Amino acid sequence: MTKRKIGQNFLIDRRVAKRELEYANIKKDDVVLEIGPGKGIITKLLAEKARKVIAIEIDENLVRELKGSLPDNILLISGDALKVDFKILPKFNKIVSNLPYHISSPITFKLLDCDFTLAVLIYQKEFAERMVAKPGSKDYSRLSVGVYYKSLCEIMETIPKTCFYPQPKVDSCIIRLFPRASPPFSVLDETFFFDLTRELFNHRRKRIKTTIREVYGVEIENIPYQNMRVEKILPEQIGELSNFLFDFDDVET
Ligand code: SAM
Repeated sequence: MTKRKIGQNFLIDRRVAKRELEYANIKKDDVVLEIGPGKGIITKLLAEKARKVIAIEIDENLVRELKGSLPDNILLISGDALKVDFKILPKFNKIVSNLPYHISSPITFKLLDCDFTLAVLIYQKEFAERMVAKPGSKDYSRLSVGVYYKSLCEIMETIPKTCFYPQPKVDSCIIRLFPRASPPFSVLDETFFFDLTRELFNHRRKRIKTTIREVYGVEIENIPYQNMRVEKILPEQIGELSNFLFDFDDVET
């Protein structure tokens, strides 16, 4: 029995799994992290090509099922990927997964904080589009800013919903993501920058000045980009705004 509540839409088309590995250019010395191996369609292909695969699965029934059929170079961890401390895992350099959709956002932010060279991930199409959305587009969001700040991300292809069982309501996408060696602009305080980004996008249609007044409860003169609407402000401009506000005495950090 599949559990939709924990994102169990299993990939049933091996050609898609193979292409995911091709995009990740898996080599003999790679150590790959996989979130949610499920029945192992991607895991087993990874194990054939990589040195080691670390797979974290929350469903104990699937863990039991998988255990009997996996080669030695797979470390299968039974647990919630959001709770597992990735620092205690063996060092991995790539991430390849068909992610459970219900945790797309928190797992993406958690992965973006890890040290790796390349990730190839399957997401629901709408989420993937938000990851790569440009300022001014309807999909531009806090997620787009966070992904841009941390990485270079592109959509590789759309996968029809018929490639999964049970069939989800929407199509999916494979994305490829390279972490940046350093951020594209500098901020004085990253936590403040990300908190500000979240607050701004809670009011995406409003002007910057109005939003800042509502969020921090103070009227500040000459705020950078004060008349722009949140939905159009570039990540670089949010960085500038965050540095301006971080230095400002009346704004609590
Ligand atoms: N990789 C398999 C495939 O492509 O067919 C399964 C992908 S399915 C979309 C997502 C998998 O993640 C399921 O096996 C589900 O049980 C597992 N999962 C859901 N939430 C999880 C979590 N918090 N931590 C680890 N695994 C999780």
